[in-house]
Amino acid sequence: MKYVFVVGGVMSGVGKGVASASIGAILQSRGFKVTALKIDPYVNVDAGTMNPTEHGEVFVLDDGTECDQDLGNYERFLGKNLSGANYMTTGSVYQSVINKERQLYYGGKCVEVVPHIPLEVIDRINNAAKISGAEIAIVEIGGTVGEYQNILFLEAVRMLKLSQPKDAVLVLISYLPFLSKDSELKTKPTQYAVRTLNSAGVQPDIIIARASVAVDQKRREKISFNCNIQKDDVISAPDVESIYDVPINFEKDNISGRILAKLGLRPRESDLQKFKKLSAKVRSAKKRVKIGIVGKYFGSGDFVLADSYISVIEAVKHASYSLGAKPVIEWLDAENFGNLGKYDGVIVPGGFGSRGVEGKIRAIRYCREKKIPFFGLCYGMQLAVAEISRDLLGLKDANTTEADQKTTYPVIDILPDQKARLAEKNMGGTMRLGAYPAMLQQGTVAAQAYNRREINERHRHRYEVNPEYVAGLEKAGVVFSGRSPDGRLMEIMELPRSVHPFFLGTQFHPELKSNPFSPHPLFVEFIKASLKRAK
Ligand code: GLN
Repeated sequence: MKYVFVVGGVMSGVGKGVASASIGAILQSRGFKVTALKIDPYVNVDAGTMNPTEHGEVFVLDDGTECDQDLGNYERFLGKNLSGANYMTTGSVYQSVINKERQLYYGGKCVEVVPHIPLEVIDRINNAAKISGAEIAIVEIGGTVGEYQNILFLEAVRMLKLSQPKDAVLVLISYLPFLSKDSELKTKPTQYAVRTLNSAGVQPDIIIARASVAVDQKRREKISFNCNIQKDDVISAPDVESIYDVPINFEKDNISGRILAKLGLRPRESDLQKFKKLSAKVRSAKKRVKIGIVGKYFGSGDFVLADSYISVIEAVKHASYSLGAKPVIEWLDAENFGNLGKYDGVIVPGGFGSRGVEGKIRAIRYCREKKIPFFGLCYGMQLAVAEISRDLLGLKDANTTEADQKTTYPVIDILPDQKARLAEKNMGGTMRLGAYPAMLQQGTVAAQAYNRREINERHRHRYEVNPEYVAGLEKAGVVFSGRSPDGRLMEIMELPRSVHPFFLGTQFHPELKSNPFSPHPLFVEFIKASLKRAK
């Protein structure tokens, strides 16, 4: 087993996840079996209980694990489905050590933070690699070097490097500020980051220099001399137009050659054709398609963060690129948005709680009446059902009981098996989570898009379309084109093409399975319809 650890220096948000995913993709393109893991420093046992404005999107895996959005990057870059074994947090690691201690697993020993916590971390990495049959595990450590929270994970790196010096490399992705045109890239913060790593007992083998521009020779020498690494081990990582250019850029500086040499692995032919083709496609995309996303998890102080909907954004991009277009995405605050008429397509993505619900319903009605392509994801689908119930069925205050417990018409209601859990306040990891099959009704928009009868998509919800209202909705013209195999749960709702160019909602999250190399069919259909309107 070989290990590539990735840590971040200077500040967060410099693209550690994309860098880790890219390193994985590059090594995979060289014929190695790769898997990727994320270690998050928080005490939450998983990401499921966190508000997206705190920590970005909650990504969901096939097995129902609610995890960090970086797992989404790994899946998209590696083209693989990962499992819960690829994700751990401080909370989950402590939880298993404590459980083992209760079972006398440590045979009467004093169980200590060091070495037992790092040993558990290493065990878990090995286990994930074993499950996936990987030769190389990419392990991204969350947080930034110098934080108290991730010190035990660095300790795991130290212990592993000590026992298997030829099997592990440490990559530091660090930020080089660039203050103005008359200035230079500054390396001092990176030097401090390396000293901090040194004080944790580890030395980086490779430094990825993230900056708005490429690192020049002079700065390369400076980093090399002051950070104690070879010049060739400094990899330049300037801003790029598309994240899928990152692997190509890293390879310009021969990152895989350097990593493989350090791991004692013989380099094999590299084949980044897939990424090169994609990159060319992005560059040559002439058409533009304007997509509005109506959500509520954007605001952070004075700033707007798109992180909460990262998979939705990526899925829109994948579909657009495949159709020779570039999306122009705009954020619309569900509680306060202007004229939707200027958009070629509108998405109402997933969400929770009552805030913003009425605004979203208004947006959906506008799209339905003005025939603007509309795509509802999970909450977006549920609220489309509420909107149609109010307007076409005349059920005045129809709603989801999540937003209004006292509604006369609970057209969206809690899943039966969720009731007890809510009553007990048993919230973590208890929704309907992960991949479930659904059957498509032939001749519908969904069935044509997928071009198959059975699908398998990822879920994360507590509520569903209330079966009591299904017949009425169908009479009003709604087509439930996707249902659970037993027919009980409504998985996709749509309006026929004769009525609307594209009006479709899914109870699941199609964005979680979209990939730049195989865009999701429903997103492709939605963008197709939006491009028609753009014309
Ligand atoms: N809040 C809704 C539910 O729990 C929708 C969830 C979502 O959009 N992921 O059913």
